[in-house]
Amino acid sequence: MNLVAEIRKIVNDVKQNEPMSKNTSFCIGGPAEVFVKVANIKQLQGIIKYSNSKKIPLCILGKGTNMLVKDKGIRGIVLKLNGDFNQIEFANDTVTAGAAVDLPVLASKSFARELSGLEFAVGIPGSVGGAAITNAGAYGESIGNIIDEITIMDFEGKMHTLKKDEVRFEYRSSFLAVEGVLLNIRLKLQPKNKNDIIKEMQSYIEKRKKTQGIKFPNAGCIFKNIESSNTGKLIEEAGLKGFRVGGAQVSVKHANYIVNLGGATAEDVLGLIEEVRTKIKDKFGIMFELEIKVVGE
Ligand SMILES: Cc1cc2nc3c(=O)[nH]c(=O)nc-3n(C[C@H](O)[C@H](O)[C@H](O)COP(=O)(O)OP(=O)(O)OC[C@H]3O[C@@H](n4cnc5c(N)ncnc54)[C@H](O)[C@@H]3O)c2cc1C
Repeated sequence: MNLVAEIRKIVNDVKQNEPMSKNTSFCIGGPAEVFVKVANIKQLQGIIKYSNSKKIPLCILGKGTNMLVKDKGIRGIVLKLNGDFNQIEFANDTVTAGAAVDLPVLASKSFARELSGLEFAVGIPGSVGGAAITNAGAYGESIGNIIDEITIMDFEGKMHTLKKDEVRFEYRSSFLAVEGVLLNIRLKLQPKNKNDIIKEMQSYIEKRKKTQGIKFPNAGCIFKNIESSNTGKLIEEAGLKGFRVGGAQVSVKHANYIVNLGGATAEDVLGLIEEVRTKIKDKFGIMFELEIKVVGE
């Protein structure tokens, strides 16, 4: 029996050779050999145990807004959470949100309950799971600061609840005591007047419009910011705004974004990344670190 037929015994929503360009905000990437959407814990456990027993690589996808998938695609299983993982539950000033929940949706639902803490997240287009794993943040805030608890399924199918002190967050990264598929997070929010929350959210939306109103597909900031200076500013100072490799271009609006002008390949983007890194190293003696995750072959 082939791989897809075997997996269909565990999950109904299975596709073969699904183009990752349809599942990432960059609109780039070759096919996922098998693409599954799991709707509940039982299905997830089934997929994890199956991939583990057969030694099939498993790639976890959130909303694909922080990812560059290479042109030959991803071997094995690409797993996306859906169904039960979209639940949101408020209890006093805490909220438990499933990993598939859209981060801006969670921010606006918290606002509606006059709960503050997620204002910074209004313009971050990822999922709750992706945000926690990458410690998404903006304007000096990040999700790691308000996470109280994380529930995760390890790669043997066992569930764990990790307390705050079992997770370390750093700038755009997280280190969990147990690795696996993140299922949900519990956030501690603060009661606050609705008008004050909306004012803050609106100011962030305005800031984004001014600096990041970009009409081409992209994956947000490509390189991590560095302590000594603003990454985008250095790229601009190096004269790289608008610089192109194939269909990939350093955004003319925000120099730390690379845009897909149409038909860009992962090879174009990686070529452009290397050009930028080399020029920045030569000019400023700084080696930029990637903020996006590069996956596939
Ligand atoms: C226009 C634009 C603006 C952006 N602005 C910001 C910003 O201001 N600040 C910021 O921090 N980011 C920003 N980003 C990047 C991105 O939106 C965030 O990093 C986001 O949190 C990624 O979430 P995702 O669901 O898309 O994750 P994905 O890109 O799908 O995945 C990211 C990583 O998380 C892992 N992952 C995802 N879900 C799970 C899970 N359930 N369990 C285990 N691992 C998982 C993946 O395997 C991958 O390694 C921006 C992106 C765009 C396109």
